[in-house]
Amino acid sequence: MVTQIKALVLGDIVWGENDKLLTVLTAEYGRMCVVLKGGSSLKSKVAGACLPFAYTEMTLAEKGGRPWVREATEIRGFHGIRKELESTALALYVLDVLTEVCLEDGEESEMLQLALNTLHAIENKLKPLGQIKAAFELRTAAACGFSPDLVACNTCGEDKSQFMYLDVMDGVMTCRECRQRHIQEPPAEGHTSIVLMLDRPILDAMRLISYSPPKRFLSFQLPDGDSRLFCSYCEKYLLNHIDRGFASLEFFHSLEGL
Ligand SMILES: [Zn+2]
Repeated sequence: MVTQIKALVLGDIVWGENDKLLTVLTAEYGRMCVVLKGGSSLKSKVAGACLPFAYTEMTLAEKGGRPWVREATEIRGFHGIRKELESTALALYVLDVLTEVCLEDGEESEMLQLALNTLHAIENKLKPLGQIKAAFELRTAAACGFSPDLVACNTCGEDKSQFMYLDVMDGVMTCRECRQRHIQEPPAEGHTSIVLMLDRPILDAMRLISYSPPKRFLSFQLPDGDSRLFCSYCEKYLLNHIDRGFASLEFFHSLEGL
């Protein structure tokens, strides 16, 4: 059977003597594993279109129970990302997150669109890299069903206090007054909570990322003083929900201080 797909290459490993095993993301079939015959060979005509970050049109054929790439034509290579180490590090982290959260055999059009928008933003530096990362993380959490409820206080329904408190694992906010009442009560047994204190600019940015149409997920503005905290909050939110860290993320952070 021959299938035509448009796929973002998330990763590749050498397989056997000369072949590669690609992990790719498609809208229709989610995350897939496909074989690239001769992918390690310099003579391969299609290998250049099947490198990580490439969004590629592939013709797949079935052989030995596995799909393999018969033809590949690059649609977007995002080659500009590789010109800078920090951009490359962030994009590799994005691919790692996608590999972790995207389903096999599931519809993943939302995550594919987010991935392409994020890589485009990294390549063209549409915002500081840390803010692009944060927006990607929050949208990913939402696409995976962990979207925080950022509308109003979960207890009294108000949205007036200067600071709101977001419980990471429950995904709900409380206002200052309700929180003060709440913290005087003993916590439920075995319940540890991570609470993020959101000021108005951070809350507004998180709302815009969470509730805007896909292409406008980066249209928030943040005062300089809030950016660092905002970035760490979004990272904390996603990683606590998917319950793991990433070597690529540590590498990205190691570059930030240079
Ligand atoms: Zn309240």
